[in-house]
Amino acid sequence: MTDKNVLIIGGGVAGLCASVELANLGIHVELVEKSDFLGGHAIGYACKATRNTCVKCGACMVEEKLKNAVSHPNIKILIGSQVQKISKNGRFTVNIHQKPQYIDSQKCNQCAICSDRCPSDGAILNGFSKNNIPFYGINPEKCLYLKDTSCHICRDECPEKAINLDEKDSKYVSQADAVLVATGFQPFSPVDKPYGYGLFKNVLSTLDLERMLKQTARVKTPSDNKPPERIAFIQCVGSRDSKLNHLWCSKVCCGSALRMARLIKERQPDIDISFFYIDVQTFGKDFEQFYKDVQEAVRMIRAIPGDIYETDSQKLKINFLDNSTHETLEEIFDLLVLSIGITPCKDSRELAGMLDLKLADSGFVSAGTEEASDFENGVFTAGTVEGPMNIPETMAGAGRAAWDIAKYLKPNGF
Ligand SMILES: Cc1cc2nc3c(=O)[nH]c(=O)nc-3n(C[C@H](O)[C@H](O)[C@H](O)COP(=O)(O)OP(=O)(O)OC[C@H]3O[C@@H](n4cnc5c(N)ncnc54)[C@H](O)[C@@H]3O)c2cc1C
Repeated sequence: MTDKNVLIIGGGVAGLCASVELANLGIHVELVEKSDFLGGHAIGYACKATRNTCVKCGACMVEEKLKNAVSHPNIKILIGSQVQKISKNGRFTVNIHQKPQYIDSQKCNQCAICSDRCPSDGAILNGFSKNNIPFYGINPEKCLYLKDTSCHICRDECPEKAINLDEKDSKYVSQADAVLVATGFQPFSPVDKPYGYGLFKNVLSTLDLERMLKQTARVKTPSDNKPPERIAFIQCVGSRDSKLNHLWCSKVCCGSALRMARLIKERQPDIDISFFYIDVQTFGKDFEQFYKDVQEAVRMIRAIPGDIYETDSQKLKINFLDNSTHETLEEIFDLLVLSIGITPCKDSRELAGMLDLKLADSGFVSAGTEEASDFENGVFTAGTVEGPMNIPETMAGAGRAAWDIAKYLKPNGF
């Protein structure tokens, strides 16, 4: 164990991976995550293995890193926490604000009594993985005790006495020798596209579908909780879009959506799936065979639909141009899945200001350039804060960043 301390901002797969790598070298890590749970976006993804064969979607790798990080003695985890100020005088002094935790992760045994007995929908939050410690959190906007003290059923009925609804905010000061920014990405919000997201019940994003498959293993139509007969995927929502000035390809969406489509066909073969796309981004060395299999199961349509309308029975009417006849066709689907892209993390600008990092015009941190990670300064970056990348690429980048940090802290090795 060394006396060196690294502060990692962001507890997604990049932050988890770098934490574990550094901790394994005997370096002390403080991992700051602003949400209630570690794992970032990818902890909500379902395993997409089909015919009992791994399709390398990466979901299990995130679980593994989360499990390693929460049990590592060299990693101190600060969830519900955000950096407020950073100054440097030799070491970094970092002021961190921590929200009340309410549920003691050391005492909670995940019995679910709090969640089962809570009368307010959405007041008890839960992580997407059993490896999330704590597994439960409290949503102050929905909790009746935090509104007007009218209910404290969870606190009274918790057999472990793990709940303290009177907990207050706290402050934490970290002294770090290096800082890693791993704040990830912001999923594109499709509300401003003409696809009815947030307006029509049966329009989901690929992130919503990932979580549905992880939690229930089956697809259901939100309006009636029944399996849909027809699903349409629409690709490139928020990516390769000149009107939005998002000219980049998000790189992960084709793989993610096609793997989900194939998984659904295996589990619910009666569902008819159409896939609207501009072109298909290749992924992985097994792509060719995978894509052949997908084309047998899924109707691929090279077109991007225009506006979407809802019918009286909450089905979705889609218009699109048939490429071969140049006719406009209209079809009805039960469920629409929007393949949303990767956009820059909202907090990048503020953190870049605090740490003197350069942002590209796109809003991602300009990775790989001299300005991006000035190792002399002890500031490093990893993961999708740098731009679109998949889980294996994120993990590889986080491993490299951990190695660079170790070299920076001790040029002659540990
Ligand atoms: C719809 C969709 C499907 C995908 N499917 C796949 C797939 O099947 N396979 C695959 O390999 N990849 C997939 N990806 C890509 C994958 O999600 C990313 O590669 C991975 O999540 C990147 O991890 P990350 O740690 O860089 O970022 P994130 O997952 O975004 O994690 C960043 C973390 O930082 C935290 N954070 C942000 N700001 C702050 C702050 N100021 N202070 C503290 N914490 C902060 C966030 O709360 C979050 O927990 C998909 C992406 C999308 C959009």
